[in-house]
Parts: sequence; C-alpha cells; structure tokens
Amino acid sequence: MKIVGLTGGIGSGKSTVVRIFGDLGVHWVDADDVAREVVEPGTAGLAAIAEHFGREILQADGALDRAALRQRVFENPEERHWLERLLHPVIREELVRQLQSPDAPYSQPYVLLVSPLLLETDQHELVDRIVVVDVPEDIQIERTMARDDNSQAQVERIMAAQMARDERRSRADAVIDNNRPLQDVERQVCELHNRFLFEFR
Ligand code: ADP
Repeated sequence: MKIVGLTGGIGSGKSTVVRIFGDLGVHWVDADDVAREVVEPGTAGLAAIAEHFGREILQADGALDRAALRQRVFENPEERHWLERLLHPVIREELVRQLQSPDAPYSQPYVLLVSPLLLETDQHELVDRIVVVDVPEDIQIERTMARDDNSQAQVERIMAAQMARDERRSRADAVIDNNRPLQDVERQVCELHNRFLFEFR
C-alpha cells in the first residue's frame, strides 16, 4: 500500500480536495484528527501534559483546555518544543497504525495522509509522494477568514508559523491549483488519481 501525503497551508483547500479523492474511493487519515485523538481524556498524552503544565490546563470535565495550552506554548518557545517532543512521535505512531489499519475499506492502491504539517514534521518520511494544495496567500487569507471568522492578523500569524508557499511548492511531486472553480479542481484530482493508479500499478 502506497501512501500519498497531501498538504498545504491553512485554508488552502486540503479538506475540499481530500473529499474529492474520497469520492473516488480513496481512503485517508487526517493528521489534525489524530492530533486531537492522542490528547483525549484517558490518553497517556493528556496525562503527561497535565503533569507538566498543571491541572489548570484541563477543563472542568477533564478534557484538554486547548485555548489555555495554545496560550502557554505561544508565550514560551521552550514549552512549545517540549510539547512537540511529546506529541510528534505519538501522533506519528498513531498515523502509521491508522494508515496500515487492515479493516480500512481499501479499494485503491494508495491511501492519503492529510496533514498541514507534513513537511514541517518528520511525517513526510512516511509518504511515497507529496501533493501540495496551492492558492495565492491573499486567497488563503480570504477563505480562512470567511470559514473561521478569524481576523486577518490571526490568519497571518498562523501562516507565519507554517512553511512559505514557494518552499512548500518546491517540495511537491504534484501541485493542485485550488485558485480555480471546484469543477476544475475535480478534474485536476481525477488526473492525479489516474497518474497514481498508473505509477502504483
Ligand atoms: P484547509 O482544509 O486546507 O484548511 P478548506 O478545504 O477548509 O482548507 O478550504 C478553506 C475554505 O475555502 C473552505 O471554506 C472551502 O469551502 C473554501 N474553498 C476551498 N476550495 C475552494 C475553491 N476551489 N473555490 C472556492 N472556495 C473554496
């Protein structure tokens, strides 16, 4: 089973593109979902975070207070590194488990790993191909603001922490231009799917 990594900056259209692959019968694992799963109540990940940051990092119901954690690591790069050293290996292990999960409805010779941090972390070592969903920065900002009701400054801060557009594109085996009507994006995904079926046959 081959693994294709799908990445792109916030609001570039990863979720939109992966749904089109899904319609073609391609199974995918979303790194954002896995990143949430590994800190759910009862996990070793959440226990380690609560021990390190104190119980004030938890909500009354015992779940992780994400806003509080974001604030703590935003203020302190050393805490951010501590958190990354804790979670990145756990996330990676769970990604591998889910990508290899034998009961997944595999009907295609490849699965997708969707991750905003595919290239920023060692997750790219897991994949056979890298696909980048690409839009100009102004479109990225516009679409993210409309989707998340964020201010331009908030979106720009998130983008500043992600890889620059040109560098991301330079690492791609294939680029999907998502500054296009959806119909055109669907055509690009179909072409890419056919290419992978050929390359992975
Ligand atoms: P990501 O998962 O990369 O953060 P999304 O797939 O959620 O990005 O896309 C961001 C926003 O832009 C969503 O509201 C989505 O509906 C919209 N969007 C995505 N692709 C297009 C497109 N080709 N044309 C218009 N809007 C789009």
